[in-house]
Amino acid sequence: MVRAVVIGGLGIGIDTWSLVSLAAGISAVEAVNVRDRLRDHYRRRSSPGVRAKAYMDAGDLVPGTLGGEIVLDGVRRAGDGWILHDWPRKVEEAEFLAEHGQEPTVVIEPTLDESETMARLGRRCLHCRSTMHVYYRLPAVPGVCGRCGGQLGQPHEVTVEEIRTHREAAAALTAHYRGRGRSVRAVSALGEFDDVAARIAAIVSGST
Ligand SMILES: [Zn+2]
Repeated sequence: MVRAVVIGGLGIGIDTWSLVSLAAGISAVEAVNVRDRLRDHYRRRSSPGVRAKAYMDAGDLVPGTLGGEIVLDGVRRAGDGWILHDWPRKVEEAEFLAEHGQEPTVVIEPTLDESETMARLGRRCLHCRSTMHVYYRLPAVPGVCGRCGGQLGQPHEVTVEEIRTHREAAAALTAHYRGRGRSVRAVSALGEFDDVAARIAAIVSGST
């Protein structure tokens, strides 16, 4: 059974979820992400859904344990195989999954080189934090976000710090999984959307 974790790629932004969904479709497994699962729980007024909503309404982050509960429910429901996106983000969260018998068979890390990451994050919307892609979703008006109309352009020093923080977290997570004998595969996120999704799907399908 395929159990794949895709680490949230920096500068790939919300596109990673679309990529993961497409790759999951190709590999005939279920794509699971915490944000969508959370919405679903709230719609059904489940206990974790209602508790998570209370945090969000208060402007607080949903605690990791609650996120874990929701992810665990999602992967258990997926049954025949899953690709989990953007969770775990920390070693403790990876340990939580393992404690509940849900370890990935493969960990996939979409990567972009430094200059591409800098370029994409540099075009990030200051309002909705969406990043504009080089191949699709280009802003119709230069400097204006195609999603919300906000101003594009994140300050250089913010981008540098963001890259540093993300690399540290991703390195800790991949080191943890390598230490547990898991296969960790980097995949280039550069190129056309369908090509990147096919690369992810090939790794997923080959990991059984
Ligand atoms: Zn925006």
